Amino acid sequence: MHTSVINLIGIENKLNVLAYENKRKPEIIAVSKTFGIQHIKPVLEHGHKNFGENKIQEAISKWTDLKKEYTDIKLHMLGKVQTNKVKFLIPLFDYLHSLDNLKLAEKISNEEVKKNKKIKIFIQVNLGEEDQKNGINLKDLDNFYNECKKNLNLDVIGLMCLPPQNENPEKFFRKLKECSDKFRLTDLSMGMSNDYEVASKFGSTFLRIGTKIFGERV
Ligand SMILES: *Cc1c(COP(=O)(O)O)cnc(C)c1O
Repeated sequence: MHTSVINLIGIENKLNVLAYENKRKPEIIAVSKTFGIQHIKPVLEHGHKNFGENKIQEAISKWTDLKKEYTDIKLHMLGKVQTNKVKFLIPLFDYLHSLDNLKLAEKISNEEVKKNKKIKIFIQVNLGEEDQKNGINLKDLDNFYNECKKNLNLDVIGLMCLPPQNENPEKFFRKLKECSDKFRLTDLSMGMSNDYEVASKFGSTFLRIGTKIFGERV
């Protein structure tokens, strides 16, 4: 069996045990950014459905044909999206995890009408209040959420966060869960290779795992 598949099964097994503490077992998004099709194929053949990328251009070249071959794949965009790339985002992707500004939200709304297709969306929240990080600040979240949901008619299903590195992620996961409950959202995108077990405990529904499945990126 391919190493990536063994890794994935190992994570699934850990989650099966953890799942007793949670109400809902989280889905694993296999984050395949920087890895070529030959690395992705074994995981697809194993039957895995959720994959994540962080660059539109790279995703187009890797996934346009793969998605025709494996028709029930869900593709997740995790990285920053420029507004001029939205016309490529909507046809190829099923989820966006990184909505963080109004211009992008408006562009998505327009493009969804044009293409007659809706994607599921997470609002990225900047919980660390770090200037350099992407994400909507907590104090602006109410307004932003309402604008996306009511005025732009976006299918916002949850919140996403990237806790500051070198800090214990627990308080960030707890905070995001609180916000999510307040808006009565169904999904939470949090947890990566190093903290997915903690994130699961705090109610994550989508774990974004790259390194622990595919290995170190070069
Ligand atoms: C790359 C990436 C991941 C996966 O990171 P790992 O530490 O390799 O699991 C998760 N989320 C986002 C937004 C990423 O860009």
